[in-house]
Amino acid sequence: MGELFQTFSHKAQREAIGMMIDSVLKKTPEKRREFYLRIAEMAKFFFGSEFTDEQYENVKAVIKGDKSRWMQYIDRVITETDPHIAKTTLLNLGYEAFLRGTKTIRSNREKYGCNIPWLILFDPTSACNMHCKGCWSGTYGRKYTLSYEEMDKIVTQGKELGVYLYMMTGGEPLVRKADVLKLAKEHRDVQFALYTNSTLIDEELCEEVQKVGNIMFLLSIEGTPETNDSRRGEGHYAAVLKAMDLLREHGILFGTSICYTRENVEAVTSDEFYSLLMEKGARFGFYFHYMPVGNSAVPELMPTVEQRQYMIDRIRYIRSEESGIEFFPMDFQNDGKYVGGCIAGGRNYFHINSAGDAEPCVFIHYSNANIKDSSILEILQSPLFMAYHKGQPFNKDHLRPCPMLENPDCLREMVKESKAVSTDLESPEEVEHLCGKCDDYAESWGNYLEEERTPARVS
Ligand code: SF4
Repeated sequence: MGELFQTFSHKAQREAIGMMIDSVLKKTPEKRREFYLRIAEMAKFFFGSEFTDEQYENVKAVIKGDKSRWMQYIDRVITETDPHIAKTTLLNLGYEAFLRGTKTIRSNREKYGCNIPWLILFDPTSACNMHCKGCWSGTYGRKYTLSYEEMDKIVTQGKELGVYLYMMTGGEPLVRKADVLKLAKEHRDVQFALYTNSTLIDEELCEEVQKVGNIMFLLSIEGTPETNDSRRGEGHYAAVLKAMDLLREHGILFGTSICYTRENVEAVTSDEFYSLLMEKGARFGFYFHYMPVGNSAVPELMPTVEQRQYMIDRIRYIRSEESGIEFFPMDFQNDGKYVGGCIAGGRNYFHINSAGDAEPCVFIHYSNANIKDSSILEILQSPLFMAYHKGQPFNKDHLRPCPMLENPDCLREMVKESKAVSTDLESPEEVEHLCGKCDDYAESWGNYLEEERTPARVS
């Protein structure tokens, strides 16, 4: 089946999988397992020997397992999601990005001798209707935007390299609602995910998203009304819950985006918080360690060593078979072992800010290239990106992945050698100033891992 499938053109493959998905979505969860097994077979033909036979068999065993928690989770997400959205997401994220895209990306990495990412994050605008304490978008000011043509250029050139997943942050991307929807309609074969403060999600937007099918949302929310609103402003928590209700009613996929700080670690991982998220229909979420980026950052908000260990233990418990919490959390700072360390600099992703500057990571505000006068490939081959390519992984311990937070000398060196300049348009920050805020943290965390770690905890 897989070999025959490989002889189809791209268009024919997409149509064949689309028909398969249509029929599968109408089936019972048990019958859907047969489809998942066929996808696992196809993956083997796309990825071949990049994974071992044992790995393929392990995946199949999970699919066949009657009580597999994660198969039940997938069934639930599919059942709750609008059928058109479910089909489009499976096609764009599953077939285009994961199966075809990964293969194209791998061959382009060889061909061009640089990192080629799996996703590109960009900021349609620096404008935001809110003023959250410590938000990096504030440091860009509120006057920068990518034109529609520039956003279209990012996606068009990205697709040529094999990139089929695009995330938007800001500013608030929904300030550019009309252009975001236009882009999603123009590029129906890619998946978009918007990091949003939720306040601009309304009935009309949900109806549009239902029709286009290839947009999902990551809502910013931080624990309790008190912990959330103290950073994001009075009334924000209630606005997020209202947006969740609207998205759930329309069968739109959404998760959460949570910045954990010294002040909110417990609140954003409590049983009560997860109960609320499950009740509201959020099924997955990204956690981000607070980073002291920008001249006005508050380093005291960085989690303590004990809090970081707590996050590792807590997130891994929630993902374990023992947990009954139907929510899949991912921790940007502590999940390095699943992705080989730092994913920035185009290794798996990079960021383009609202002024067009291409940054290795949303937290690393230095660059030698801008989308306004460079192609995506030129960005990936620019000096700072090539320094990432050469330097990754920055530490063999994937619990210390970051060239800034845990290995600040790496960033100092890369920025100096590449002659990258600050992309902070309001208050340029010297790399020494930024890295100086991470030195103590890096040392304490490094010492802790070397001295305190026990095999029973994290590896
Ligand atoms: S630069 Fe740091 S924060 Fe960004 S992806 Fe790499 S490890 Fe993560």
